[in-house]
Amino acid sequence: MKKIILTGDRPTGHLHVGHYVGSLANRVTLQNSGEFDEIYFMIADAQALTDNAENPEKVRQNVLQVALDYLAVGIDPAKATIFIQSLVPALYELTAYYMDLVTVSRVQRNPTVKAEIQQKNFESSVPLGFFCYPVSQAADITAFHATSVPVGEDQEPMLEQCREIVHKFNSVYGETLTEPNIYLPPNKACYRLPGLDGKAKMSKSLGNCIYLSDDAETVRKKIMSMYTDPTHIQVSDPGHIEGNTVFTYLDAFSKPEHFAEFLPEYANLDELKDHYRRGGLGDVKIKKFLNRVMETFLGPIRTRRAEWEARKEDVYDILQEGTKRAAAKADATLQEVRRAMRINYFEDKNLLK
Ligand code: ATP
Ligand code: MG
Repeated sequence: MKKIILTGDRPTGHLHVGHYVGSLANRVTLQNSGEFDEIYFMIADAQALTDNAENPEKVRQNVLQVALDYLAVGIDPAKATIFIQSLVPALYELTAYYMDLVTVSRVQRNPTVKAEIQQKNFESSVPLGFFCYPVSQAADITAFHATSVPVGEDQEPMLEQCREIVHKFNSVYGETLTEPNIYLPPNKACYRLPGLDGKAKMSKSLGNCIYLSDDAETVRKKIMSMYTDPTHIQVSDPGHIEGNTVFTYLDAFSKPEHFAEFLPEYANLDELKDHYRRGGLGDVKIKKFLNRVMETFLGPIRTRRAEWEARKEDVYDILQEGTKRAAAKADATLQEVRRAMRINYFEDKNLLK
């Protein structure tokens, strides 16, 4: 069986460091491992419109920004296909057929959909398209016969729902669709990075992000204003690590070698944490260290982004080419699906028999 990756991002804003540790860094590693036969990265504009229908310009503007973020982190258009979701019409047709296999109550029970409806204050006014996005996501994944989906932990319920659709489809119509697996980051601290405000998730729509495209001074200011431990008032006070966002970020981003390089008085993160717990270690010092740690990967991303920003015509071509390739692949899957469902009326003359 071929090994195929599909994942994507909603063009609702620039990508942030939560995307980086949750999914982008993994994608680049997988892309460069040479173990995959096909790799697709989707800019999910249609999904972004499900809760931004009145703001199409925002979605449109961010398509190019997400593409620039992809290229900046090291996604290589020679190895991976980058495409725009709404220009792959087969995805809608697949979504329509899959909707017949899913109940309303099953989607209502999807914990990510539930949490997002609450977070967006939709209550009883949830757009139908938004409500159904787990089904359209199943179409995105299965259209490419994806075997691995590198995403953050919030996507686990989507993958589960997708696998259910695959099972149901295959049991009703015969073995057709491929079951995907979630690919989570190797480091648990990266599953779901909290926001700068300490809120459960860094998210474009919560405005608590460090963006990959932020300049160095903006990043420094954001880090210096981060939520830490409200009970740690004097440097001499003992501090708490749990729920302290600066330490959560160090868990996610710091590597042993950063200590030797930037903070040699501590051998590792455990020693730093111990000192903080005992008291006598100020927030400013840890934040400065975190800033240096984050600049080790943000610096090169910024440089590459600037290079691609000077080549926007090339980015346009990459998107157009990628979308064409993706549409052909999804069309082929749609034909398999129609065949399995026996609605391929004009493929042969069997209808007349
Ligand atoms: P929106 O607020 O518009 O939903 P978002 O910030 O949640 O935006 P998405 O485009 O929905 O971003 O998510 C893209 C990918 O990034 C998904 O795989 C998701 O799991 C991952 N991701 C997003 N935020 C985080 C985070 N804070 N930590 C880890 N992974 C994340
Ligand atoms: Mg999201």
